[in-house]
Amino acid sequence: MLLILRRECTVAEREEVVQRVVDMGLIAHPVRLDDHHVIGVSRDAGPIDPGPLAALPGVEQVMSLERPYPLASREIKAARTSVSVGGVSVGGPDLAIIAGPCAVEDESMLVDLAAALQSHGADMLRGGAYKPRSSPYSFQGLGIRGLEMLARAREATGMPVVTEVLDEDSLAAAVDHADMLQVGARNMHNYAFLRKVARTGMPVFLKRGMSASLEEFLLAAEYLLSSGNPEVVLCERGVRTFSNHSRFTLDLSVIPAVREESHLPIVVDPSHATGLSLRVPPMARAAVAAGADGVMIEVHPDPAAALSDGQQSLTVASFSELARQLRAIAALVASRPETVP
Ligand code: PEP
Ligand code: MN
Repeated sequence: MLLILRRECTVAEREEVVQRVVDMGLIAHPVRLDDHHVIGVSRDAGPIDPGPLAALPGVEQVMSLERPYPLASREIKAARTSVSVGGVSVGGPDLAIIAGPCAVEDESMLVDLAAALQSHGADMLRGGAYKPRSSPYSFQGLGIRGLEMLARAREATGMPVVTEVLDEDSLAAAVDHADMLQVGARNMHNYAFLRKVARTGMPVFLKRGMSASLEEFLLAAEYLLSSGNPEVVLCERGVRTFSNHSRFTLDLSVIPAVREESHLPIVVDPSHATGLSLRVPPMARAAVAAGADGVMIEVHPDPAAALSDGQQSLTVASFSELARQLRAIAALVASRPETVP
C-alpha cells in the first residue's frame, strides 16, 4: 500500500504519518518522487487496514497498486524520472553518453583518456576500481588507488564518475570518490547490499542481472526506492540465452517495456552485452533508436593491451565516430516523440 502525502504537508505531519505506521506494527518506506512525498507501507504478513492512515492530516490519498514494484511503476508516477549525476541528467531530453575503460589501470592514461572522451562527446566517465572478475586469478582492479585516479580524472575534466561497488568495503571507499555507484549484474540480486547502497543517498546505476526478468529487475530497483533513494538509473547489459555468437544477448526489447512499466531512466551497455568491439557500434545505435536514455561504452587507448575486456573496448577514434552518430539518432528519436512513450 502507498500513502501519497499532500504536497504542502509539513515535516511534522510527515513524521506523524511515519510514526503512526510504526505504531500500527507496520513498516514505512518513505521516498520523495520529484516534488511529492510517498510512503510505502508493508507488513510481514496479513492485510493492512488503511482507515487510520487515510484519516491523518498529512495524507492525501491511500493507493493500493497492482504492480509488485509500486514505487518504480508508472502507476505512481507517469512522468519520466531524470536523475542528475554531478550536473549530467540521465533521463532528461539529452542522451547521456557514459564512456571509459573497463578497469582503471593507470593515472595518466585515465586522465588523458577522460579528456579525450569528453572532447569527443562523453558526458560521464566510467571505470572499475573493484572488478567482479569471473576468475580469481584475473586482474581485480586497483581498489582505493583506482578510486583516487577516477577522482583526479574528474578534477581534470569536470566529468562526473560512475564506478562499481562490490561489497561494504568498496562501497565505503567509493562514496567519497564517485558521483554514481554502479551495482553490477552479479549483485543485482543482493538485496541486503542494494539497501546499503541506496542509503548512501547517491545516484545508483543498477545493472540487470544476466538472468533477471523485467519483473525481477524492477523489483531490485524497488529495493533501492523503498530504501528512500529515488536516484535510480537502470542499465540493460545483456542476458544469457541459448544464443552463443555473442557474450550475452542484448535485450533491446526491454527498453520500450521498461518505459511502459516504469518512470526510471534506462541506459544500455552494448560493450558487456556483445563482448566484441565490432558489434558495439551497431547495437549502441539500435539502443538509442529504441529509446534508451543513455549508453555506457567501454573505451581504451590501446584495447589490445587492456587489463580487462580489451576485445570489447573501442578505440578513442571509433568512440568519437559513434558518439557523433548517437547524437544524430537521439535527435531524430526526440523529434518523433510518438515512437517512444
Ligand atoms: C562493468 O560494467 O564493469 C561490469 C562488470 O558490468 P556487468 O556487471 O554488467 O557485467
Ligand atoms: Mn568490462
